[in-house]
Amino acid sequence: MSNNPKPQATPSQEAASAPKAVSSRESNSSLETALAPALEARKQAHLYRRRRTLSSAQGALVTVDGEQLVNFCSNDYLGLANHPSIVTAFKNAADHYGVGSGASHLVSGHSLEHHALEDELAVFMGRDRALLFSTGYMANLGTINALVGKGDAVFEDKLNHASLLDGGLLSGARFQRFLHNDLADLDKKLARSDGDRKLVVVDGVFSMDGDLAPLPELSELAQKHNAWLMMDDAHGFGCLGASGSGSAEHFALSQQQLPIVMGTLGKGAGSFGAFVAGSEVLIETLVQQARPYIYTTAMPPAVAAATRASLQVIQEEAWRREHLQQLIQQFRTGATQLGLQLMPSPTAIQPVVFGDAATTLTVSELLRAQGFWVGAIRPPTVPQGTSRLRITLSAAHSAGQVAGLLAALEGVVKSLPELTPTS
Ligand SMILES: *Cc1c(COP(=O)(O)O)cnc(C)c1O
Repeated sequence: MSNNPKPQATPSQEAASAPKAVSSRESNSSLETALAPALEARKQAHLYRRRRTLSSAQGALVTVDGEQLVNFCSNDYLGLANHPSIVTAFKNAADHYGVGSGASHLVSGHSLEHHALEDELAVFMGRDRALLFSTGYMANLGTINALVGKGDAVFEDKLNHASLLDGGLLSGARFQRFLHNDLADLDKKLARSDGDRKLVVVDGVFSMDGDLAPLPELSELAQKHNAWLMMDDAHGFGCLGASGSGSAEHFALSQQQLPIVMGTLGKGAGSFGAFVAGSEVLIETLVQQARPYIYTTAMPPAVAAATRASLQVIQEEAWRREHLQQLIQQFRTGATQLGLQLMPSPTAIQPVVFGDAATTLTVSELLRAQGFWVGAIRPPTVPQGTSRLRITLSAAHSAGQVAGLLAALEGVVKSLPELTPTS
């Protein structure tokens, strides 16, 4: 970073050289004139997004804008966001530590709760060390940017999460996307690369499709080309693997085979934040160099304490993963009987593709009228022409609620035969 002071105009110089008589009201209206057309275009294309307001805790049943709905669009896959022992841990820690952490980790914000959570995450993940980040978005930006830069090359699956793509684009490394889960395409691109360092980055469970990355094959390919493999397990952590530690456990991949694992704590774990797990040298490099780690306030200690309680529940209440698997099977069997086109997803994320954004919105509104809340996912979150319902199942759901959703879907699809989905 350069410390060169930029020559600054004094207020009187600015006043003398500024164009005359631009009132603040006029400059605001020019801001609005510049911005408004893009908003209008989004509305016309059925891509405008609106926030709905919850006045209840997260769970299978939520109150949204005053209406009670069965919630099939959260990432609270294990139903832990409002789990009593996790809430109690949060309250007790708040009594002890207060609310704010007060500083970044490297200044004075690193508490015993953060430190203990990192140690527990490392053991749970079967890695040497783990490092907490305030969010998954920041973990991805920070990790990719600490590992590669100019002269290096980064290879990302086309369907990777936006935070991974942004991290790769920001890094200054040569950025290449390979076709979704296409090992031959990646092999070709790696072979042609002359990057000093090569980093391959994938989602473990793809967030909008629900399918898994072929991690064992990716690991071999990366080793063959002397590349490093990084896996974002936002949707696998808590859900996959016998003990719930995610995709690495599901495929039994060691630290040597899968050296960089990132996980988020705001989805399956029902809390907030994220971590990266790996070798001592990897983690110490992130502590020293990951800017989104260094230049941000540490998460509240009570959040870390709540996450520690969540790690316990994830390991002790294996029935949550089993129940979730049963609901996934129930949904897939029922939806197939209705003639709905499903995607090859073995996870809690069960998309139903309708293609066109307006149709997808209509279907989600018809479901809402029957008491079911399902997200309509449209571009740019998913590619053009692949708008979909993103149905997410949770261990908090009952079999009856899933049966209710299937019955409502049947009604909607029958009432609008032209909506019969295609994939
Ligand atoms: C949600 C998500 C993130 C971001 O995590 P946050 O903690 O919500 O910032 C990163 N990667 C993937 C694949 C995600 O789904």
